[in-house]
Amino acid sequence: MKILIAEDDPLYSKMLESMLVKWGYEVITCSDGFRAWEILTSENAPKFVILDWMMPGMEGIEVCRKVRENIKDTYVYILMLTAKAEVKDIIEGMESGADDYLTKPFNANELKVRLMAGRRILEMQEELISSREALRIMATRDALTGLLNHVAIVDALGRRLVQTTREKTPVGIVMADLDYFKNINDTFGHLVGDAVLRETAKRLQLLARPYDDIGRYGGEEFLVVLPGCNLEDTVNYAKRLRECIQENAVRTNGANIPLTISIGATASVDGKATDVDTIIHTADNALYRAKNNGRNRVEFTTHEES
Ligand SMILES: [Mg+2]
Repeated sequence: MKILIAEDDPLYSKMLESMLVKWGYEVITCSDGFRAWEILTSENAPKFVILDWMMPGMEGIEVCRKVRENIKDTYVYILMLTAKAEVKDIIEGMESGADDYLTKPFNANELKVRLMAGRRILEMQEELISSREALRIMATRDALTGLLNHVAIVDALGRRLVQTTREKTPVGIVMADLDYFKNINDTFGHLVGDAVLRETAKRLQLLARPYDDIGRYGGEEFLVVLPGCNLEDTVNYAKRLRECIQENAVRTNGANIPLTISIGATASVDGKATDVDTIIHTADNALYRAKNNGRNRVEFTTHEES
């Protein structure tokens, strides 16, 4: 773990540094508050700081306040080091945002255990952040295919539409629905049906660019959002997708399952505002026509026609 020592007294600074290095910490030092603030706001900044209260330039307590006011995306653990030992000073230090304090002169063992306590807090904090991230992924992903789930893909589309209006760029959307999927489930069972959905998702991802949004819109229905694509680009993508699904049967459990997909495509006109419901409705209509006109085909509608 990386620790910043901000201490203007060279003797204390050296002593702290050699102790911390001995205990296995990576150490950065500085001798005034301004530099401390610079280091704490730099890239890969240390998350643990031993902060001397009285320093030239910006005092430790001021650094403390600035950290709490400005650094929100990560937690910085602050151990205040001070020659001020009165209760009112300690209260002021803690009120400014310090997590802990130690008065000079201090006992090495006491410092050691206080560092350990701070470290535990930071590690718990890291765990919380990663489990929050795991929860976020669970909440936005479809468990079977790993694609965005219904809520998340509709959300993503909404954000793209706002962006597209602002930047005056088009956005294409593709609504794709596997043909006769119910038959697959009825004939081969749900496990095979699941494998077919996963394989379809894989092919969707294969054809997409890294910044396209792909979601499982419903049972065997998928929604793809293609930023920057006009209607022609979108229809081309849809045609490639249709071919990619038809060309190779899905192999699962020794069975070869031929598969086709019907696709409705549409695109927003450059920079013209449209809402999620309207554009989905437009793509849905095109999909409906693809089904009615014999399936395994692409139909499209410009946004104006709908
Ligand atoms: Mg000092």
